Amino acid sequence: MQKIPFDLRQGSFTTDSENHSGKIAEVFQADALKAWFLNEGRDLPWRKSPTPYAVWISEIMLQQTQVAVVIDYFSRWMARFPNVHALAAAPLEEVIKMWEGLGYYSRARNLHAAACHIVERHRGEIPSTRAELSEIQGIGPYTVGAILSFAFKQKAAAVDGNVIRVLSRYFAIEEDVGLGSTRKKIWAVAEKILPEEEPWLVAEGLIELGATVCKREAHCWACPLRPGCASFRRGIQGELPKIEKKVEITSLLREVFVVSHEGALLLKKGEEGKVMAGLYEFPYRDKKVKGFPFSFDAKKVVKLPVVEHSFTRFKVKLHPTLWKAIQRAELPGHQWIPFKEVHRYPFSSGHRRILQQLREDHADITH
Ligand code: SF4
Repeated sequence: MQKIPFDLRQGSFTTDSENHSGKIAEVFQADALKAWFLNEGRDLPWRKSPTPYAVWISEIMLQQTQVAVVIDYFSRWMARFPNVHALAAAPLEEVIKMWEGLGYYSRARNLHAAACHIVERHRGEIPSTRAELSEIQGIGPYTVGAILSFAFKQKAAAVDGNVIRVLSRYFAIEEDVGLGSTRKKIWAVAEKILPEEEPWLVAEGLIELGATVCKREAHCWACPLRPGCASFRRGIQGELPKIEKKVEITSLLREVFVVSHEGALLLKKGEEGKVMAGLYEFPYRDKKVKGFPFSFDAKKVVKLPVVEHSFTRFKVKLHPTLWKAIQRAELPGHQWIPFKEVHRYPFSSGHRRILQQLREDHADITH
């Protein structure tokens, strides 16, 4: 099998071959990708009217979240916060509530802070330059590229995991894509292949192709890029992209104290700067520590089913127990919230599931 080393500095493959000689842009089948995207691209709500605001919100939601899940969230969000001004004017707690269930809540906090920044600095208009967009909280290079390309129709690349997969396969880039140096190369390739005419169709088409055809398991038979794809020709598409280092997942065991008193529940709001900032949770602690952690008296009622959930790089097993407090003590950083009102508060997903169980099996604690 012939190997075709890729030399970025020369912008070419270093070995001539039938399909892979010459410049990157010439090798890449931009027209085929454009035609495919126009015919086969999914009809997603944020594509109907790709305003800078719609592109920004959808791209932030799509980070770490499946398209099927985002569709509903996006529609609800746009109905409630139709523009930057509406988002900036909303209370942060409501913004987090609208995000509830999507995870990675720093995204919602950043959106709110960014909206305030855009109102203050840009009179509520999302800026159209790379430099100004890069200054906005929560907007990284990918999102900058997406806004410039899909909304402002500029010649800009937007490289996410899908694009890395497609390009590393198409050009048979065999270096570890976990390395910053390889990512830099792929960004450079993604920029070079953009045509002068309608470059946004290629930028978004690459993402779409990675999401629907050149997936983890490549569906090469349905791919418009197959005639020029180096890894398909060599039969190595299943081995690419190469990722040497995996993110380590940490397992946690937590004892959760669901404490009720006369129809109210004891809850704690996540502190600023922490992963769960702004979200409500029942008090918890490490499972290894035994006993009731509060200074007031409480009676153990029942153990509730274990809940498992994951966030960032953690996998958590929550072991909740329902307690009835004898008296209502005020504790620093904690609040007693009436059971009938808790549905209005934003919860982390694991603790929301505990709350759901309570509602289904122990509704008697509401009084
Ligand atoms: S031919 Fe296969 S490996 Fe190459 S870009 Fe298309 S789907 Fe991906």
